[in-house]
Amino acid sequence: MARKVALVGIGKIARDQHLPAIAANPDWELAAVVSRNASLEDVDSFTTLEELLEKRPDIDTISLAIPPQPRFDYAAAALAAGRHVMLEKPPGQSLAECHALEAAAREHGCTLFATWHSRYADCVPDAKAWLKERRIKRLVITWKEDVRKWHPGQDWIFEPGGLGVFDPGINALSIMTEILPHAVHVSAATLEFPANRDTPIAAQLTFTDPTGAEVSADFDWLQEGPQTWDIDVETDEGTLKLANGGAVMSVNGSVVKQASDHEYANLYKRMAELVQNCGIDMDLSPMTHVADAFTLGRRKTVAAFEF
Ligand code: NAP
Repeated sequence: MARKVALVGIGKIARDQHLPAIAANPDWELAAVVSRNASLEDVDSFTTLEELLEKRPDIDTISLAIPPQPRFDYAAAALAAGRHVMLEKPPGQSLAECHALEAAAREHGCTLFATWHSRYADCVPDAKAWLKERRIKRLVITWKEDVRKWHPGQDWIFEPGGLGVFDPGINALSIMTEILPHAVHVSAATLEFPANRDTPIAAQLTFTDPTGAEVSADFDWLQEGPQTWDIDVETDEGTLKLANGGAVMSVNGSVVKQASDHEYANLYKRMAELVQNCGIDMDLSPMTHVADAFTLGRRKTVAAFEF
């Protein structure tokens, strides 16, 4: 029998990805939504999470598709009510919030899943397997997109806790932390803050790698025209490229795999597995790199930004 899930926040990612992924997965039934502004035809709709938790004890899973700033309060309330929780990325506005949620999930015996959708791109497991056999000399992340195109009018992204360019950049870091056979850490960063905003619009990161590989990331949110979501890796036995956010994999310049988008289908599949045993999947390594970039980053002020 399908398990009942409530989706909280009916915004861009809910409509683009969560609703179709839930509808396509027989393990899940969309039993309710929570939205301050929207409702869905034929689905029980609430304006507050508190009301849903009170009136629908039969719904045991809550999926949060809201910005990071309000996420902790929603997740904490759901866990305290004994519900399983699926978190959009990033899993919180701070590492301490994420640790507190994990402790609450353990206390209440609930599933908690910090989703990293880019990690579930089809070529990521292939890239991981390919790299495992080789010595990495260099890894370069180039993540350059147009914020006006992908986040029109989303002011929360430039407010404290909104992560700025790390909102897409953390997707690249979630892939990097999955495919690298060992951990790296941020050793230097430059963060470019628009004069009128509280989060960066561009960032350059350098990592220390215990095997001596050169690892770096270049994030830019003002790229017009072609958009770039690439990870290039040079090894002792050839080069690997993950392009288009992990959808295309090339080895030595030739495409070896090109896949369609199954990221959110894979996330809901994983969530269905986790709730079977009240499992917790809270890998915070992408978030740790972002937090370290904010701690270590040299701040540069750049031109003011308006949507
Ligand atoms: P969004 O459209 O700006 O916001 C999503 C919804 O969250 C809003 O429609 C609103 O829903 C609710 N919301 C906003 N502020 C809130 C607040 N202060 N308190 C309670 N609810 C609030 O954002 P989004 O693009 O969907 O992104 C949501 C999350 O998904 C972010 O963490 C983002 O990083 C992640 N994500 C986004 C994308 C993308 O392409 N946009 C891709 C992958 C992941 P109601 O009006 O229904 O209450």
